[in-house]
Amino acid sequence: MVDQKKEPLLLTPGPLTTSSLVKEATLKDWGSRDQDFIELTARICRRIEDIAGVDPDRTHHVCVPVQGSGTFAVEAALDTVLSRSATVLVLINGAYGHRIARICGYIGRSFVTLETAEDQVPTIEQIEKKLSAEPAITHLATVHCETTSGILNPIEEIASLAHQKGIGLIIDAMSSLGALPLDVTELNCAALVASSNKCLQGLPGVGFAVMEKTVLAGSEGNATSLSLDLFDQWRNFEKTGQWRFTPPTHVLAALDQALVELDEEGGVAGRGTRYQDNCQTLVDGMRGLGFETYLPDDLQAPIIVTFHPPKDLKFGFEDFYNRLRDKGFAIYPGKLTQADSFRMGCIGDLSAKDMKNAVTAVGAVIGEMGIEV
Ligand SMILES: *Cc1c(COP(=O)(O)O)cnc(C)c1O
Repeated sequence: MVDQKKEPLLLTPGPLTTSSLVKEATLKDWGSRDQDFIELTARICRRIEDIAGVDPDRTHHVCVPVQGSGTFAVEAALDTVLSRSATVLVLINGAYGHRIARICGYIGRSFVTLETAEDQVPTIEQIEKKLSAEPAITHLATVHCETTSGILNPIEEIASLAHQKGIGLIIDAMSSLGALPLDVTELNCAALVASSNKCLQGLPGVGFAVMEKTVLAGSEGNATSLSLDLFDQWRNFEKTGQWRFTPPTHVLAALDQALVELDEEGGVAGRGTRYQDNCQTLVDGMRGLGFETYLPDDLQAPIIVTFHPPKDLKFGFEDFYNRLRDKGFAIYPGKLTQADSFRMGCIGDLSAKDMKNAVTAVGAVIGEMGIEV
């Protein structure tokens, strides 16, 4: 077995550090047509529905799982929800917003974009203006926590505008579902997308779209891809409880355990509190060392924090990364287009004490490198 203590903690946006029990849950082989596995899939979907705020009678929304990384699920949701004649407004303030637009290009759907700076959220006035200027818009797609910077987009306001205008809403909640409150019923969203390996603290390999049933029921023939057709996927689950194509059985078994741990932690509220503690400990500690965050505190989600690198010319990310990794912490390069940066995640099976230790390690590394922050 891997010596857990020697492996670095992943201060990344996912895949991330998971618990021993989550990893151990993969030690059994499952027959994908077995009743036990059919029940496992159903249980996971019901739990994801609860986490996403589906009504207890499950009349309005349903969780449709799909094999692959998060992007597969985003693409599947867009390809299924959007009819061939739809026009979608994509809100962009980072790489994942850009990715949504790129997917729309690949699947041949009309789209317009509203782009704001990576450290700014779009305002309702800006969105309204765009909608008035482009009356063909039928849908709006947005990222909840834009993991590029860690910025939190005002999802309630955006959702309420979309609802008021009668526009279908698609939310990429990849890096927030499980840690931040999200309620598909209140948000009236057509599809909310997430994956196993971020705040749900499972292993990578499966994604989910929590979809409005009426939208799903009317989506036959929309998809341009068989494997990503969530209508077909859903219909098959409704009929047989089984996956159409080979499911990631071990990943699902691990996720089943991860969802038990989410419950034990007090659900979304409990997990959100721990991540908030992690984030605060990290930010306070790094500021104590002289680092500055890219985002102001009021826009920062407790998921991942972007820091400006030291201005000292002796600083190089590779060297910094390798030294930190040797001390047991894997961090993430920046993803901003406008500024040099690096990122440290607050999510996964990590405690405030781990974050404190990470800050101590950063302090030691900049000392070794002889860097002024
Ligand atoms: C991680 C992430 C994705 C999906 O990325 P994959 O690498 O495909 O898992 C999509 N959107 C956001 C906001 C993310 O954080």
